[in-house]
Amino acid sequence: MMIKKDKDNKKSALDFGGDVRSLILTLVNAAINEEVNRWNKDRHVFRTPIDQFALIQSMMRQVTAYIDAPEECVETQVCSNCGSPMAKGFVINDGEENYCSEECLHKRYSKLEYLALYAGLDHTDENVLMSVEQLTDKELDALSEINDSGTFMTEWEVII
Ligand SMILES: [Zn+2]
Repeated sequence: MMIKKDKDNKKSALDFGGDVRSLILTLVNAAINEEVNRWNKDRHVFRTPIDQFALIQSMMRQVTAYIDAPEECVETQVCSNCGSPMAKGFVINDGEENYCSEECLHKRYSKLEYLALYAGLDHTDENVLMSVEQLTDKELDALSEINDSGTFMTEWEVII
């Protein structure tokens, strides 16, 4: 039997292949935190066993909502090119832009432009791009650190 997708053909968290575990942990973590905070604001204490049931129910409702629409969760990083939620990828200028894959990254920046950004140099300067091409990985890493570039490849981890 075919699983019916909603009419926008939107991706749920389960459609994200290799990144799915990390993405789901992020969503569940965010949903639980939000519901606990909301609960604390509204009720302060558990008065009856029904309160506990209601809390779990509201958590599960939020978890489900985020798994169905991961882009709704503020903790989810979204690709600046294709709009996909992402658990790892490229961060440009401390998160001004994020890209989920090399394919998406290179729609906006060439490989040399990315290396210049990574090194904290001016990626719009032709001379910089020519010199970046000559640098070793070690030299690029050192420049990135010295210039505190804010551009790098990363994997977002949920701390449990
Ligand atoms: Zn993308």
